[in-house]
Amino acid sequence: MKPANSILSGYGTTVFEVMTRLAIEHQTINLGQGFPDEEGPDSVKAMVDTATREFPNQYPPMLGIPELRQAVAGHNKRFYGLEVDWQTEVMVTSGATEALAASILALVEPGDEVVVFEPLYDSYVPMLRRAGAEVKLVRLQPPDWALPRAELAAAFSDRTKLILMNTPMNPTGKVFDPDDLAFIAGLLERHDAYAICDEVYEHLIFDGVPHIPLITLPGMRERAVRIGSAGKTFSMTSWKVGYVTAAPNLLGVISKAHQFLVFTTPANLQRAVAHGLDNEQAWYTALAGELQNKRDYLADGLSEIGFDVMPCGATYFMNADYRPLGFIGTDVDFCRHVTIEAGVTVLPVSALYATPDVDHLVRFCFCKRDEVLTGALDRLRDFFVK
Ligand code: PMP
Ligand code: GLN
Repeated sequence: MKPANSILSGYGTTVFEVMTRLAIEHQTINLGQGFPDEEGPDSVKAMVDTATREFPNQYPPMLGIPELRQAVAGHNKRFYGLEVDWQTEVMVTSGATEALAASILALVEPGDEVVVFEPLYDSYVPMLRRAGAEVKLVRLQPPDWALPRAELAAAFSDRTKLILMNTPMNPTGKVFDPDDLAFIAGLLERHDAYAICDEVYEHLIFDGVPHIPLITLPGMRERAVRIGSAGKTFSMTSWKVGYVTAAPNLLGVISKAHQFLVFTTPANLQRAVAHGLDNEQAWYTALAGELQNKRDYLADGLSEIGFDVMPCGATYFMNADYRPLGFIGTDVDFCRHVTIEAGVTVLPVSALYATPDVDHLVRFCFCKRDEVLTGALDRLRDFFVK
C-alpha cells in the first residue's frame, strides 16, 4: 500500500487529548488541557436556543452572518480603535484553529520561510509544514520569556513569508509589549512579510496590562491577520467559533481556503456569539480579574509546595519547574507520575516545542473553581510534602 501523507503520519495524538484521556482513566483533577469549568454568560447560551428555534438552520453566508461580522468589527473599534469594513475585512471561522489553518493555507507557498516562537501551540508547526513552509524557530527562554531580538532578526531573510505569533501567549503567559511589537513590525516591513496573529487570549490579561493587536501598529494594517476565538472569550471551548480580521486582499484569499475547508460555521452559535460580543462586555472583561486571583492563589500554593513557578501575565496557564521537589525524570515522566500517584494531571511543556529538549517544565491550567484548585494543591502537598 502507498503511504499516507508523511508529515501528518509522523505525528502522534495531540498532547491535550492524551493527557485528558489519562486524567479520565485515573479520575484525576485535570489541570492539563485548557478548559474552564465555569461557563460563559447565560444570555449567550439562551441565544443558541432562541436562534435554533427562530432562525433557519441552513447554510449561513460563507463569510459568516452579518450580525456576527458587524459585532466583530464593533469589538475591534471599541477595544482597539481599529476601524474595519465588516463586509470585506471580517470572516467567521470554525474556531481559531480553522482560522489558523485557513490563513496558513492561504498565505504560504511551498518553500516559503515562516518564523515562529517556541514554545508554541501544537497545531502551528504541523500545519505550516503540511503547507510546505520551512519553519524557522526562535526560542523564548524562561522564566521571563523575553524577546531575543538578535536571534529573531537573524531568523528573517528575503524568503520569509510571514511570522506566526501568539500574544498573549500559550503556554508562556507572556504578553508582547509595545517595544516587542514595534520591533517585529520593523522586521516585517524590512522583509516585506506578513503576520498571522493568534490573539485568542486577548481578554485574559492580568495586572492592568493592555492587549495591543499588531494590526494596529503603523504599517501593519495591510500585513497582519488578527484571529480571535469566542471559545476563549466566553469560556465555552466546545463552541469553535473564531473570527479573522484582515485587509481585503488578505481576507479575500483566506476566505478561499475557508470555503474549501468548512465553508461555514453553525449559524445558531454565530448568532449567540454576536449577541455576546455586543451585550456581554461586562462579563468578558470581568473574567481577567477573576483569573488573576486564581493565578495568584495557585502560584502561591505551588511555590509553598516547592515548585519553581514562572511569572504569568496572561492566559489561563502557568509553568513551573518541578526539579526543586527532587523528582528525577522528564516532564512527561513527571506528568504521568503525578496523574497516577497524586491524582492531579498537568501538561508536559516539552510537547509544545518542535524539538522537545526543554523537558523540566509543566503547565498548570488555573481556569477552575476555587475548590478544584484547592483540591489539586491539597493532593500535591500530601504527595510531595512529607
Ligand atoms: N490558539 C491558541 C494559542 C490556543 O491556545 C487555542 C486553544 N484552544 C487555539 C488557538 C484554538 O482555539 P479554538 O478553540 O477557537 O479553535
Ligand atoms: N488551547 C488549549 C490548551 O492549550 C486546548 C486545545 C486543545 O485541546 N486542542 O490546553
